[in-house]
Amino acid sequence: MSTLVPTAVVTGGSRGIGRSIAETLGKAGFQVFLTYVSKPQEAEAVAASIVAAGGKAKAFALQVGDSAAVSAFFQDHIKDQVQLSVLVNNAGITKDGFLIRMKDEDYAAVIDINLKGAFYCLREAAKIMSKQRTGSIVNITSVVGQMGNAGQANYCSAKAGLIGLTKSAAKELASRNVTVNAVAPGFIETDMTTALPEAVREEYLSHIPLKRFGACKDIANAVAFLASENATYITGQVLAVNGGMYC
Ligand code: NAP
Repeated sequence: MSTLVPTAVVTGGSRGIGRSIAETLGKAGFQVFLTYVSKPQEAEAVAASIVAAGGKAKAFALQVGDSAAVSAFFQDHIKDQVQLSVLVNNAGITKDGFLIRMKDEDYAAVIDINLKGAFYCLREAAKIMSKQRTGSIVNITSVVGQMGNAGQANYCSAKAGLIGLTKSAAKELASRNVTVNAVAPGFIETDMTTALPEAVREEYLSHIPLKRFGACKDIANAVAFLASENATYITGQVLAVNGGMYC
């Protein structure tokens, strides 16, 4: 029986959905290592709120699109130092635009962070979890990775890719007792969605049967379930949390 502290790594845990996931996993009893890229104060505030609630947490700067930085993070802070119970690949960006005008760099940046970043973290976590013979990985995809969305060819490519990555990793890691699932949020109230023009928000609302945007906590609860002892026979699945949108 390992004496190392059961730990959940949450990428992009400084804001929005990632913050809620970090706080929820902290309350569920995991030590939480949350990462950020540009907002250290927000990340430290999330770690402090987990500690204030009686949990354990640390914030780390980590550019998930940098393969070497991801390897170094897992080597320096995770391997042989904690029990890696959970990895949540949540960090993500958008760079929207119609595809005929989309610049190479805007397509590449979204793939680099949302898809390659998740792959780099998943690969490192898989090495450690395979040796542990336990662990769960949850990738945050999106309803638009399932449905497509005008103006988001880069983002939808990355999020659809993440579903393929989830299913492949689930098959490879099952024999090691490691589960890999995805959560596909619909439209959730965060910095990413409040930036949308009012007309676009209204258009989105008209397609949501429950007639409201989701809350970050709705996603965090789904992640916490997939990371829990209640979900150890679930792998390779995409859990849609989207207010009933078709997907
Ligand atoms: P958000 O509020 O914009 O927060 C993004 C998070 O990712 C921040 O913590 C940010 O760190 C981090 N991040 C950005 N670029 C990074 C990089 N290169 N390396 C490491 N971390 C990076 O986003 P959100 O709305 O909560 O979305 C979280 C996830 O849910 C994303 O994967 C998103 O695609 C997905 N999602 C969101 C919605 C929605 O409606 N909001 C719907 C479907 C899926 P800093 O704070 O340091 O900048």
